[in-house]
Amino acid sequence: MKKELSKVLIIYTGGTIGMKEDPSDQTLKPFDFSAILTEVPELGKFACQVDSVTFDPLIDSSDVEPLLWKQLAEMIVREYDRYDGFVILHGTDTMAYSASALSLMLENLSKPVVFTGSQLPIGRPRTDGKENLISSVEIASARNRDGSAKIPEVCIFFNSQLLRGNRATKFSSVDFDAFRSPNWPVLATAGIDIRYNNDSIRTPGNGKISAKTCLDTRVSIMKVHPGITASVARGCLLGEDIRACIIETYGSGNAISKPWFTDIVRQACEQGRIVLNITQCLMGEVNMDIYATGRALKDTGVISGADMTTESALAKLFVLMGENDDNNMVKEKLKQDLRGEMSC
Ligand code: ASP
Repeated sequence: MKKELSKVLIIYTGGTIGMKEDPSDQTLKPFDFSAILTEVPELGKFACQVDSVTFDPLIDSSDVEPLLWKQLAEMIVREYDRYDGFVILHGTDTMAYSASALSLMLENLSKPVVFTGSQLPIGRPRTDGKENLISSVEIASARNRDGSAKIPEVCIFFNSQLLRGNRATKFSSVDFDAFRSPNWPVLATAGIDIRYNNDSIRTPGNGKISAKTCLDTRVSIMKVHPGITASVARGCLLGEDIRACIIETYGSGNAISKPWFTDIVRQACEQGRIVLNITQCLMGEVNMDIYATGRALKDTGVISGADMTTESALAKLFVLMGENDDNNMVKEKLKQDLRGEMSC
């Protein structure tokens, strides 16, 4: 029986990858990806059909807002049956936020959604964009013998490595090796062949694909630091429109043990607000039982974010708060691993 060609949809949102030098004034400008096969002829060599769609306006990813996530999630659901995989071209600055958000918004995903971009525009001779794009398309079209997708999850491909989207974080603004996933192994590595690390890849969802697009963004992020003042802590934890606060703590989840600080955290918890503890360390996890400074937080009702990244903690709060009015329910679900974003 003849094997059907895989079909991949490239969704171009903006970012450095799609910018091209305009010879008339030497400035970088986004180019129209409807001509993608002309720009990247290598894509035509795959045994797969590549279609593309361009967002309007194209943006630098510093301008990403939850509305873009909603549009992306809805587009994937709409086109889901027509394609075997999706590649999202996106700026690197907020790629880890968007990949985390999509991973938590998409329910029952069984096909690949691969975010990629580049540090140098695709038109530059030393660009990393071509290799990132070509390998991403190959991964998005890759299927197992039984026809199922090799990667049934939202991920980031960069510099030869495929990372779980909600475990990744931008690590370098200057190197091609721009992303890391300190708390989860790489899902695949692109060398001569693409080597899949099957043990670290999620099992596919088996229901009907859908998207949770109602997001509640009333979240603050407070990075604990020496010299932080009570008014800063009050603003982040007790501000009028704050439903949840992510406290970025030291080491294994420790914060200031002074009574003024603990009192503010306690007040926030007593008012029913959600306070989530995420470590400032790239690697490792929150454990509020090791030091007295951590235990003080736990005793006030702070929830452990375990080994989640700040990016995925934020996305998880947005999604859970969007679907639950009850903060106690949100707190319970925060402790569960929903999409491989935390080790329980
Ligand atoms: N500022 C750019 C963006 O995130 C950087 C990049 O694409 O690498 O859109």
